[in-house]
Amino acid sequence: MTKTQDIIDLDNEFGAHNYKPLPVVISRAEGPWVWDVEGTRYLDCLSAYSAVNQGHRHPHIVRAIKEQLDKLDLTSRAFHNDVMGQFLKRLCEYAGFEVALPMNTGAEAVETGIKLARKWGYEKKGIPKDQAEIIVCSENFHGRTTTIVGFSTDPDAHEGYGPRTPGFRIIPYDDVHALEEAIGPNTAAFLVEPIQGEAGVKVPSEGYLSDVRRVCTENNVLLILDEIQTGFCRTGKKFCFMHENARPDVLLVGKALGGGLYPVSAALAARDKMEVFKPGTHGSTFGGNPIGAAVAIAALDVLENEKLDERAEELGSYFISELRKIGSSKVKEIRGKGLLLAVELHKEAGPARSYCSRLKEEGILAKDTHGQTIRFAPPLVIDKDELDWAISVISRVIGE
Ligand SMILES: *Cc1c(COP(=O)(O)O)cnc(C)c1O
Repeated sequence: MTKTQDIIDLDNEFGAHNYKPLPVVISRAEGPWVWDVEGTRYLDCLSAYSAVNQGHRHPHIVRAIKEQLDKLDLTSRAFHNDVMGQFLKRLCEYAGFEVALPMNTGAEAVETGIKLARKWGYEKKGIPKDQAEIIVCSENFHGRTTTIVGFSTDPDAHEGYGPRTPGFRIIPYDDVHALEEAIGPNTAAFLVEPIQGEAGVKVPSEGYLSDVRRVCTENNVLLILDEIQTGFCRTGKKFCFMHENARPDVLLVGKALGGGLYPVSAALAARDKMEVFKPGTHGSTFGGNPIGAAVAIAALDVLENEKLDERAEELGSYFISELRKIGSSKVKEIRGKGLLLAVELHKEAGPARSYCSRLKEEGILAKDTHGQTIRFAPPLVIDKDELDWAISVISRVIGE
């Protein structure tokens, strides 16, 4: 038996079976590359769902976490620590918001946005007690908590976990008229992803986000953008909303904010919205901790110093135009923005997972989603030669 199989058996014996990973066991990583326990090298084309935009183990971020580990661990928010404030200032300046509330995982940032919207709805908009409604989109992915999966339309995500938390209304994605019709006097917020990543990189029509921004403003409804996957340069701008100047009232971030080293998330907003949170009304033991704060500052440094937004824009447009040249009858659609791309295959071409297995044999790790779609989202530090190699492999595997 191989080392790989031993480790997979161990995972299967002692772990819950809530994932079905590709049979590869990774034990080392650097930049856009990972190595398995047998020493085989792969190009990472998932980037932990865009949590490693800066590349694996970026030296600047590794240095920051090591230095912080020698100084201070955890204080909780019962006391101040000397790093959190610098982190929040840096994040607010980077994103162009006044204040931020630090959490750890993406789902916690989403829960923070939901709580903020409801409280704002009652205290500022005058929605009657317990009547606040939040509009969301079909095929959304916002995380795995009970409340969040309650408004998922993916049966795998929500079936068996009822009763669903009330107060959510689901409308079609990329349909601004549906939004206008769904808004009522008790609507507190519209929660939406600027590109639906987990749904298979669904890019809305041009103008959708700016239309949504206008409709929310006209109706005094908060626009909450979940940029946990699309944020931090992935789509070719610092944030995806910047393609259309559709600045949200509440911005939810996570994943790459932790530079692939540590879970760090946050909700950002204007002061007059965030002030609905009073001492004791929301929080997290680990949110804003010094280790995460130091990592996030370094993660933002890398995005800015290496101009990863421009890099994602440039390499992304090149990548998509090269993929479009494949010209295989198996390909139904190729879509994406920046370095968040997907190839959707026709049903007759067979399941996307079998292509992911082939790609793995050829040294590329990519993830299938929703049966027919393969997502390609390499770390943004990938260089042109590495990308060219990936394109040749992908073209061969899909074309054959
Ligand atoms: C990954 C993701 C989340 C959830 O983040 P976790 O850190 O897994 O809780 C929420 N929204 C979007 C768009 C995501 O991609």
